[in-house]
Amino acid sequence: MEKKRIVTGDRPTGKLHIGHYFGSLKNRVKLQEDDKYEQYILIADVQALTDNFNNPEKVRKNVRELVLDYLSVGINPEKTTIYIQSLIPETAELTVFYSNLVTIARLERNPTVKTEIAQKRDLFGESVTYGFLGYPVSQAADITAMDGTIVPVGEDQLPLIEQCREIVRKFNSIYGDVLKEPEAVLSDARRIKGLDGNEKMGKSLGNAIYLSDSVEEVNKKVMSAVTDPGRIRKDDKGNPDICMVSYYHNLFSKDEYKNICEECRNGQRGCVACKKQLAQNINKTLEPFREKRKYYEQHPEIIDEILIKGTEKARITAKETMKKVKKAMKLDYFEK
Ligand code: SF4
Repeated sequence: MEKKRIVTGDRPTGKLHIGHYFGSLKNRVKLQEDDKYEQYILIADVQALTDNFNNPEKVRKNVRELVLDYLSVGINPEKTTIYIQSLIPETAELTVFYSNLVTIARLERNPTVKTEIAQKRDLFGESVTYGFLGYPVSQAADITAMDGTIVPVGEDQLPLIEQCREIVRKFNSIYGDVLKEPEAVLSDARRIKGLDGNEKMGKSLGNAIYLSDSVEEVNKKVMSAVTDPGRIRKDDKGNPDICMVSYYHNLFSKDEYKNICEECRNGQRGCVACKKQLAQNINKTLEPFREKRKYYEQHPEIIDEILIKGTEKARITAKETMKKVKKAMKLDYFEK
């Protein structure tokens, strides 16, 4: 049976945090073990430049950081192909071809792009760049270049995959049945809130626990987490439903969770001890990640080798796709 190809990826713009772990990484580690799938992870450096064009050093530095995060959580390069977007020139070529198949108005209506442009007013002012507005087109090129049929996404990413499907349908209707229409698969993982209770966890919000955080950093961050504000004394009855410590216990202390909530409600648990227990459990989860990261940090040549090998493999697929695309578009001059 032919394996379904999964294409997924991240922009190399910063360290990954536990929200990323529960949101996508854990799922990727699971999927690479499933014989039905072949997984490709794209390090989207070109896409990262669409809103970091003035900071190329940041993007470059984070390429290797991203691989360190992947390897530390258990992404296995023998089972998952990790590759760099800018080293696949076919995706840039495809982006140019696809740009004829989508209108400016359609891109401006894309809800994901619309929200992101609004969030980036500081960078773009009143007028967004051509590159940023068109990043869904380049994303369609990334997916189709790899013959991707499955794209795991969060709900907020669905409009991007719909845009890709539209481009594929348009291409196939004009040039013939060449491209595969990818399917978005909604990950069952929910978005993880920040330590301050914010719906989003992120660097700019200062409310994230990173996969690479030290024991001390985790301890300090957990101590700052928002708890039930109504609790003053240790024996006050608390409400774990409005406490971020309880929220994280539900992720990291599954077996003890019921008991923790009961003790909190009955005023039998102090917040400081409760936080210490949580920090301990988060550190227990992160410890094997830290060990693996340390090993790869000491062997940067292995990271390079993984990226070179992964990119070579991805390039072969991209070249095959490009051959079919150019033939269909009558651009296969001098091809025998
Ligand atoms: Fe939150 Fe624990 Fe304090 Fe209850 S005891 S409010 S769950 S930190």
